[in-house]
Amino acid sequence: MSEISGARIIARSLKQQGVEYMFGVVGFPVIPIASAAQKEGIRYLGFRNEQSASYAAGAIGYLTGRPGACLAVSGPGMVHGIAGLANAWSNCWPMILLGGANDSYQDGRGAFQETPQIEAARPFSKYAARPESAQRIPFFVEKAVRTSISGRPGAVYLDLPNDLISANLDEQEINWLDRCPEPARSLADPEYIENALETLKSAERPLVIVGKGAAYARAEGEVREFLEKTQLPFLASPMGKGVVPDDHPLSVAPARSHALQNADVVFLIGARLNWIMHFGLPPRFAEDVKIIQLDISAEEIGTNVPTAVPLVGDAQRVMGQLNTALETRAWSYPKQTTWRSELHEQVSKNVASVDAMLNDDSEPMGYYRVLREIRDLVSRDTIICSEGANTMDIGRTVLPNFEARHRLDAGTYGTMGVGLGFAIAAAVAHPEKKVVCVEGDSAFGFSGMEVETACRFRLPITFIIINNNGIGGGLSEYDPANPPPFVYTIDARYEKVIEAFGGRGYYVTTVKELGPTLKEALNDPMPNIVNIMIDPRAQRKPQKFEWLTH
Ligand code: ADP
Ligand code: MG
Repeated sequence: MSEISGARIIARSLKQQGVEYMFGVVGFPVIPIASAAQKEGIRYLGFRNEQSASYAAGAIGYLTGRPGACLAVSGPGMVHGIAGLANAWSNCWPMILLGGANDSYQDGRGAFQETPQIEAARPFSKYAARPESAQRIPFFVEKAVRTSISGRPGAVYLDLPNDLISANLDEQEINWLDRCPEPARSLADPEYIENALETLKSAERPLVIVGKGAAYARAEGEVREFLEKTQLPFLASPMGKGVVPDDHPLSVAPARSHALQNADVVFLIGARLNWIMHFGLPPRFAEDVKIIQLDISAEEIGTNVPTAVPLVGDAQRVMGQLNTALETRAWSYPKQTTWRSELHEQVSKNVASVDAMLNDDSEPMGYYRVLREIRDLVSRDTIICSEGANTMDIGRTVLPNFEARHRLDAGTYGTMGVGLGFAIAAAVAHPEKKVVCVEGDSAFGFSGMEVETACRFRLPITFIIINNNGIGGGLSEYDPANPPPFVYTIDARYEKVIEAFGGRGYYVTTVKELGPTLKEALNDPMPNIVNIMIDPRAQRKPQKFEWLTH
C-alpha cells in the first residue's frame, strides 16, 4: 500500500484543478501543504504577510482565469487573508483561500488560534467549507475551484484542520477528480441581440463603456471588432482600460464626464453601475439614459438604473453574437454627428488643459510631470499596477494601456496596499513582461516589506513611489509631539528598504534626474525602487465631479 498525506492530497487536487500559483506564509498547521505544493509543481511564493499574499491570489485569478491560492495559518493568518478574499469578492475575481485550523477534535475547547473561520469567510465567499474527511479532499477542491470560475467569478474558502492535513491514507482510497473544464460560455437571448442593435441605431448620443468583465472574459478581439464595425465612441472603466488600446481613435476617455453626462444610450460591457460609474444616476448621467447591459450575472441587470436591453451572457460570446448580426446587416454610427464633434471638441479641450501640467518643469515636481516621464519611457506591453489616491487617479488618465488585463489598481473595493501583491502576481504570471508599480508613499507603506519577496524571486519589478510625505499630501515640517493624522516622515527614503535585500534604490528630486534614473531603473533586471519626491501640496487638476460625489 502506498501512503499519502492529507497535505499531499490537497496539493495534488489543486494542481489537478489547474491552480498553478500559491502565495502564503507558512506556520502551524500548513507547512506541509506548502512543501507538497512545490513537489506537485505548483509555484509557491512565500510572502511576508497573508494580506499581500491574498491580494496576489486574486490578481492571479483575474490575469489567468484560474484561481490563485492563498495559504494562511490558523486564526490571525486566516483573518489577514480575508482582506484578499473581500477584495476578490468585490472585484469578481476567482481566488481560493486555504486556512489552516486547529485539530477538529479540539473544536470548542479553546484550541491554539481557534477561530470561527468558515463563518468569517462566508460573506465574501461563493463557497466556504471544511472537508469532512481527507478522502474527500479532491471533491471539495474541485467544487471550490469550479465555483470560483463559474458564473460571476469570485472568492472561495477551504478550512483545513491539522488532523486533516496530517492524516495518512492509502492512495487507493482516494477518488481523484479530473480538472474541471473552463466554464461554459453562455449566449444572450437572440431577441435582445436585435433589440440592442436597434437601440444603438436609434441613439443620437451613444456611448460604449468597457469594463473589467470584458477583460476577464478575454473579449478584447470581439469588443474591438464591434467598435470598429459600429464606429461607436467608447471609454473604459479603470481596469477595462486596454481591452481596446487607449490610443484608439474611437476612444473618448479624455471627455469622460461630458460623455457620461450627455449620452442617451449607454452600452455597458462587463461594467457595473456602482460608485465607480456614479450609480448611473444624475447629475453624472442623463436623467432618461437608456442602458444596454451585458453581464454574466443576471442579478446585476437593472442595478441602480432599469435596464432597457439585458444581455445576460459571457462577454466574449455575446460580443461575437453582435458581430455576427452586424455581418448580415451592417450598420455604423455616422461619421459626422453633433455628438461626435462635441466629444472630439471636449477631448481636445481636456487634453490641452493638462498639457501645461504635463510639461511643467518647475520644482518641486507635481504628479503630472512625473507621470508623463513614466508614460514616455514604458513600453506598450508593460503591466501597470497602481494605487494611492492622487497617484492612481491622475495615473489613470496620464498612463495609457494598450493591452487587456495590463492594469491592476485599487479596483472596486478601493483597497490600498494591493500594489506589491499585484505586481508580484503579474510578474510571475508574465515573466516575459515588465511590471511597473506606480504608488503613492502611503500606499507603499501598507505592504512595503514585500519588496523582500520580489527580491528573493528576482522579479524585475520597478516600484515607483510618488512621495508627497503622507496621505493626500503631507507637510514640509510638523511638530513631532503631535504629527497630523495625514502626515508621514518627511523625505522618507523608501528606496533604501530594497537595498537591504539586494535591489537597487533610486532617489529623485529634480526634473534633470527624473528621465535618466527611470530609464536605468526600467532596464534593471532586478527589482528596484525609484522614490520620487514631489511637492507635498501637488494636486489633481480641478474636477467637474469628484469620484466619491454623486
Ligand atoms: P468595472 O470596475 O470595470 O466596471 P466591475 O467589476 O464593476 O468592472 O464589473 C464587471 C462585471 O463583469 C461584473 O458585474 C461581472 O458580473 C461581469 N463579468 C464577469 N465575467 C464576465 C464575463 N465572462 N462575461 C460578461 N460579464 C462578466
Ligand atoms: Mg502620499
